[in-house]
Amino acid sequence: MKKDELLKIEEEISNCEECKKSKSGLPVPGEGNLDAKILFLGEAPGYLESQTGRPFVGRAGKFLTKMLDKISIDRKDVFITSPVKYFPGRRAPDLEEIRHGMIHTRKQIEVIKPKIIVLLGNVAIKALLDEKLRVSDIHGKIIEKDGIKYFPTFHPSASMRFTNARIRMEKDFRKLKSLLR
Ligand code: URA
Repeated sequence: MKKDELLKIEEEISNCEECKKSKSGLPVPGEGNLDAKILFLGEAPGYLESQTGRPFVGRAGKFLTKMLDKISIDRKDVFITSPVKYFPGRRAPDLEEIRHGMIHTRKQIEVIKPKIIVLLGNVAIKALLDEKLRVSDIHGKIIEKDGIKYFPTFHPSASMRFTNARIRMEKDFRKLKSLLR
């Protein structure tokens, strides 16, 4: 059963010494609907996430939830996770950490089998599409790779900080909604 398979992956994350290296707090494996058609991939848990074990519960998370509300998507219907499963502190995760975290994340994706993976920002793009591509060059369109559909857009933290990113992310989300119809 999907639930058991995901629980097994969560246990692997909880016991993974490589994941914990230079990081702190609780594991944040991700959460949501096991049959989600859309999976959102972020960057790495923040402090609040590391205290609760839940993804996107801080300011960026509230912003993401609001963006989803605007296109009438309920958080309960999607799956949300990040390439990196523990709080790296106030720094961006490095390539090695992203690549390692993706070992667990790819297993989660294989179980959930979403129709589309929304890549929130450059770390998620590096993790699943291309280590050299930038969000500003490829956001708002479907990119197919190895039979999987990816939809890159901005990370909520960037959209909270920069009006330009927010406007483009809102437009991307409206497009995402129409693609799902
Ligand atoms: N940013 C992320 O990428 N993931 C979280 O869970 C929180 C903030």
